[in-house]
Amino acid sequence: MTDLKNLDHQAVLAGLRSALGRERMSFADFLNYLGEVDCRRLYADEGQPSLFAFGINVLALTDAEILARITAARLIRRFPIIYQRLESGELNLTALRLISAHLTEENAERLLAQVVKRSTREIEKIVAILASKKRTELRTANEVREEKSASPMQLLFCEEAATAAGQEPPVFCAKRDRTRYVAPEHVEIKFVASEKLLAKLERIKGLTITKNVGSRLEDVLDHVLESYLDRHDPARRVAKAKSRVSRQALPASQRQSRYIPQGIKDEVYKRDEGQCTFKGANGERCPARILLEYDHCCPVALGGNGASADNVRLLCRTHNRLAAERSFGTATVASAVASKAMQNLKRC
Ligand SMILES: [Zn+2]
Repeated sequence: MTDLKNLDHQAVLAGLRSALGRERMSFADFLNYLGEVDCRRLYADEGQPSLFAFGINVLALTDAEILARITAARLIRRFPIIYQRLESGELNLTALRLISAHLTEENAERLLAQVVKRSTREIEKIVAILASKKRTELRTANEVREEKSASPMQLLFCEEAATAAGQEPPVFCAKRDRTRYVAPEHVEIKFVASEKLLAKLERIKGLTITKNVGSRLEDVLDHVLESYLDRHDPARRVAKAKSRVSRQALPASQRQSRYIPQGIKDEVYKRDEGQCTFKGANGERCPARILLEYDHCCPVALGGNGASADNVRLLCRTHNRLAAERSFGTATVASAVASKAMQNLKRC
């Protein structure tokens, strides 16, 4: 660290400006590299299920930091001019986060110029006007439909389809839920929900009123979650299971197919402890515990089957795809994913 005590005031101010310039250049550079890691999906090789997880677990950023950086990095790839604007200090991450949902190829130049060196409040006003215009246009075109948010699965499919087609993955701003401990063993959970969700909760409250469930929202949610886990959590089913489907009991057709009996799935889930089993080059195991898939270690196309837990493992979507790419090649998998994504989009 440079000792600044002996510098005069002018030198300190000049040094400060120079350091800020270097910081902005290096930050824009960081985003450029992050975009390349995203595009090449290098986080998968590092044992991470997503760029978001890579940012938290490998780069040691907070969730808010990596979310803002992913948004900016993807926007830079769509609109390279943002790189220069960040480097020069005319734009910052807050401004980008605010306008990201409204940037289009048509308005990018104008909107980016509009928010240069504006305060957060000024940009919020610009965005509010844009949002209001958009709503009016939709109403005029009689296209106001019931609002339907994209599920995480749909977002994933869109991202995979875009990547497979050689396009940039979509930029989206996640509305994050917030949880925080308010006492030992007690957390506060905050999220914005639709009226429909509230109506469903009220309905369930009415249905369970005679079942000793309790009248608080927490009781109703707990009841719903318990019912779901009883039906869908493999660990619970294992605990309850009296007998398993044995390999010998399986029909020959099922032994030769990609079919994996529920008993085998439960055994695999328990053995793999509900976590992706992929290990990165550094030997660390992928931390993903959601959107897991049952993968045939030896693919069905190469003679494997799901009749034994020995040939089945848990992988997250990212690493299931990486495993497939290693077996069949990137182009084959990209084409299969694009075709599957297209089928799913058609169904939406
Ligand atoms: Zn994984």
